[in-house]
Amino acid sequence: MTFKELGLIEPLLKAIKDKGYVKPSPIQEQAIPVILEKHDILAGAQTGTGKTAGFTLPLLQILSAKVSKTTKPNIKALILTPTRELAAQVAQSVDDYGKYLPLKTAVIFGGVGINPQKALLRKGVDIVIATPGRLLDHIEQNTIDISHVECFILDEADRMLDMGFIRDIRKVLALLPAHRQNLLFSATFSDEIKKLSDGILNNPKLIEVARRNTSSEMVSQVVHLVDKDRKKALLSKLIKEGNWKQILVFTRTKHGANKLSQQLELDGISATAIHGNKSQGARTKALADFKAGSVRVLVATDIAARGIDIDQLPHVVNFELPNVAEDYVHRIGRTGRAGNEGEAVSLVCIDEHDYLKGIERLIKTSIKKVVIEGFEVDPRIKAEPIKAGGNRGRNNSSSRNSPKKSDTRTPRDNRRKEKKPFKKDYEAKRTEDGKSKLSNEGKKFKESSNKSKYTSAKPSSSNPDNRQNRQRKPRVQKD
Ligand code: ADP
Ligand code: MG
Repeated sequence: MTFKELGLIEPLLKAIKDKGYVKPSPIQEQAIPVILEKHDILAGAQTGTGKTAGFTLPLLQILSAKVSKTTKPNIKALILTPTRELAAQVAQSVDDYGKYLPLKTAVIFGGVGINPQKALLRKGVDIVIATPGRLLDHIEQNTIDISHVECFILDEADRMLDMGFIRDIRKVLALLPAHRQNLLFSATFSDEIKKLSDGILNNPKLIEVARRNTSSEMVSQVVHLVDKDRKKALLSKLIKEGNWKQILVFTRTKHGANKLSQQLELDGISATAIHGNKSQGARTKALADFKAGSVRVLVATDIAARGIDIDQLPHVVNFELPNVAEDYVHRIGRTGRAGNEGEAVSLVCIDEHDYLKGIERLIKTSIKKVVIEGFEVDPRIKAEPIKAGGNRGRNNSSSRNSPKKSDTRTPRDNRRKEKKPFKKDYEAKRTEDGKSKLSNEGKKFKESSNKSKYTSAKPSSSNPDNRQNRQRKPRVQKD
C-alpha cells in the first residue's frame, strides 16, 4: 500500500516525500481512507506509530477542498492536545504536511503571550491546535470562534483524562456545532475513554492497530529482579557491558533522577537529569545533549519525558517501575518508534512486585524475568511500602496502586506550604510529580524550540495559566 493508493492528493504526497516516508504505517493505512470518507473514528495504536500523520493528512485534504480565496478563513478544524509540547509538535506536523497547501494554522497554548495568538486568530485561520486551558481563555475573552468547526480531534485522549481535562473538554464540546466529524486518538483504552468517546463520537469506526493496551511489539521487554540498593550497580554494568550508547532511564521522583544521574557520572557514564525542578535552560540543554549523543544517559521522570520523540532511541530503562501501569506503556513507547527496534529493561525490586503484576495484567503479557549473575535477590529482604511515588493526582485508574496521598508528600512540600500560604490550596494537593506536571507545562514547549517555529514565542512573565492551574488542579483530584 502506498500513500497514493490511499487517495491522497498531490500536494500532500509531495510533502510526505519530503519527509522521507516510504509507505504508510498501519494506523495511517487504516485511518486515512476512513477519515477521508468523513466518518468519526476511535483509534488506538502503540505510541510512535504515526498517529499524527494519520489524522493530519486526511484533515488537510478535506480542508483544502474548502479553501476560499476571497473570504477570510474561519476555524474548520480544532485539534486538542494535553500538553503544550505536543501541541507544538502537532502544529509542526500540520505545517510540514501542509506546506504545499494554502491552509492557515494557529497553535494556542498557555505560558506565552496571548496577544500574538489573538492577532493571528483575528486574521483568520483554518486549523487551530490547542491545549484546553488557553483555548478556554480565548473563548472567555471572545477572541476565538469555534462555531464553524467541522472536524474535532482529540489527540492523546487518555493523557487528557489523566491530566484532569475532562471538564474543559466538555466545555469546549458544548460550543462546537452539533454536526461535525470527530476523531479520537488514544494510546491506551480505559473505561473512561470509552465513556468519553460514547459521548463525543457518532457511529465511529473503530481502528485498532495493536491489541488494547499492548506495548509496542518492536520493543523487547525484560525484567531484572534485583535488590533495591543494587539497582544502580546493575544499571552501570548493563550499560558498560552491553556498550549501550543512548539510554533513557525513568525514575519515580525528581530527587531520584538527580541522585541516579550523579551516581552514574561517578561511575564514568555521562548522564543528566530532566525534570520540573531544573531550570528551563538546563532542561533544554539536557535534552539537546542527549539527542546529540554527547550525554549517554538521560534520567527522567514520567512527566518530563512525555511526548518526547527521539528518533531511534534504542534503550529505555525503568530504574523504578511506575505506580500507574499505563505509564509503563508510555515509557517503553519512547523506544521502538517508527519501525525501529528497541529494548525496554525494568529493574524490579521486591517492593515493586505489585506494580509489576499490575503492568503485566494491563499488557496481558508476562514479561521475561532474567536474573543477572552477581545480582541475585537476597531472600532475607522483605517488601516495604514505596514512599514518595510519582502519583500525579489521578484516582481514576483501575490499574493504579499508588501509595496513599499522605505518603507522597515530601517534607519540602510541607515547608513550601508554610512559606507561601497564598498558594496553600494549590500546593497542598500537589504531589511531587503532579507539581512538575503543572509547572513543566509552561516550560516544556521550549524544549523543541530548535525545531519548531511555533515554539519561538517567549513565555510571558505573568503566566496566565497559573491561575488556571490553581483552579484546575483540585479538579484533577476530584475527577
Ligand atoms: P504517535 O503519535 O503514534 O506516537 P507520531 O505521530 O509522533 O507517533 O510519529 C512518530 C514518528 O514516526 C515521527 O517521528 C514521525 O515523523 C514518524 N513517522 C510517521 N509516519 C511515518 C511513516 N509513514 N514512515 C516513516 N516514519 C513515519
Ligand atoms: Mg501522537
